[in-house]
Amino acid sequence: MKKKREQKQVYTLSDLRTWREAAGDIDPPVRLGVFGDPVEHSLSPKMQNAALRECGIDLQYAAFHIRPDELGEALDLICSNNFVGANLTVPHKIAALQYLDDVDDTARKIGAVNTVAIREGKLVGFNTDGAGFARAIRSEFGVDLRDLRVLLLGAGGAGRAIAFQCAVENSERLVIVNRTLEKAKSLVQELSQYYAAPRVLGPVARLQALAWNDAALRFQIEHSDLIVNATPLGLKHGDPPVLSGALLAPHLMIYDTVYSASRTPLLIAAGESGARSADGLSMLLQQGAKSFEVWFEKSAPIDAMRAALSLT
Ligand code: NAP
Repeated sequence: MKKKREQKQVYTLSDLRTWREAAGDIDPPVRLGVFGDPVEHSLSPKMQNAALRECGIDLQYAAFHIRPDELGEALDLICSNNFVGANLTVPHKIAALQYLDDVDDTARKIGAVNTVAIREGKLVGFNTDGAGFARAIRSEFGVDLRDLRVLLLGAGGAGRAIAFQCAVENSERLVIVNRTLEKAKSLVQELSQYYAAPRVLGPVARLQALAWNDAALRFQIEHSDLIVNATPLGLKHGDPPVLSGALLAPHLMIYDTVYSASRTPLLIAAGESGARSADGLSMLLQQGAKSFEVWFEKSAPIDAMRAALSLT
C-alpha cells in the first residue's frame, strides 16, 4: 500500500516540474496554492485549508516559493498538473497578466491579478483585493466606501485595486498619495470618468493625486474620513511609520493593509491619536473568501476561515 505523506511547508518550481514524485502521494492532494517571493509567512494556506476542510472538499492548498523569472513556467505547470487555481502575491500580481489566457474585466481594469482559476485547461485571472477591501471596511467600521472621503497611500497592485473599488462604489472623495507621483497621477487619470458627476463638497477636489508632503497631507487629512496604507511600510520590524502621528486626528478611521505579528507603527500612532483603526487581516480574510468563491462557485465558509486566522 502507498504510504501517505504530509505536504511540505513550501514547494518550489522544481517540485512543480516533478509534481508526481514531489507530491503524488500527499493526501488530500495539493491542487491549490499561493505563489510569492517571499511566501513563507503567508497565512493563506492556513485559512484556505480550513475552508476546504469545512466544505468537505478533498484537496489541499500549499505555499509555493516562485521567483519572478519562474512565474510563467509555474503557471503552465499548475495547469498541466490539474490544479484548481492559485493566489498570487508580491511580486507577481502585475507580471501575471502576460501569462494568462484570459482576464476578467475587474482585474484588467485594475491591471493586477491575485487569483487564478483553471477553467477548461485555460488560466483565467481575477482580482479579489478590491472587493475584499470593501467588505473589510464594512466589517471593521460599519460604513460603506460610498459614504467616505478616502486618502490612499500607495499606488502599486494593492493600491490600484483599492482605488478602483473606491471609484466603482463612488466614494465621496479619493486622494491618492504615492512616493512616485507620476503613478498616482496616471491612476487618477484612469479613474476620472467615475468622478465626473458633480457632488457638492466645498473647496476640495473629489479626485486628486498628491505628492508625499506633510503640509499638503495635513490639509487633505482634514478633509478625509478614512486613511488607507497600501504600501509595505510596517511589514518589517523597524520600518518607519508611513505617516507622522502628528498628522492623525480622532475623527479618522485608519486601515493598514499590512498585517504582522505585532501592531504596525501606523496602528500604534492611530491608537495614540484616538482614531479608530484596523489591520489587514480582515482584508486577507475577505479577499480569500472571494477567491474561494471564484474557484468553487459557492459561498466561502467565512467563519471557519476567520477562526483559522484567529479573528474570532
Ligand atoms: P507593490 O505593487 O510593490 O506596491 C508598493 C507600493 O508601496 C507602491 O505604491 C510604492 O511606491 C509604495 N512604497 C514601497 N515602498 C515604499 C516606501 N519605502 N515609502 C513609500 N512608499 C513605498 O505592492 P502591493 O502588491 O501593492 O502590496 C503592498 C502591500 O499591501 C503589501 O506589502 C501588503 O502588506 C499589503 N497587501 C495586503 C493585502 C491584504 O489582504 N491585507 C492584500 C494585498 C496587499 P512607488 O510607486 O513609489 O514604488
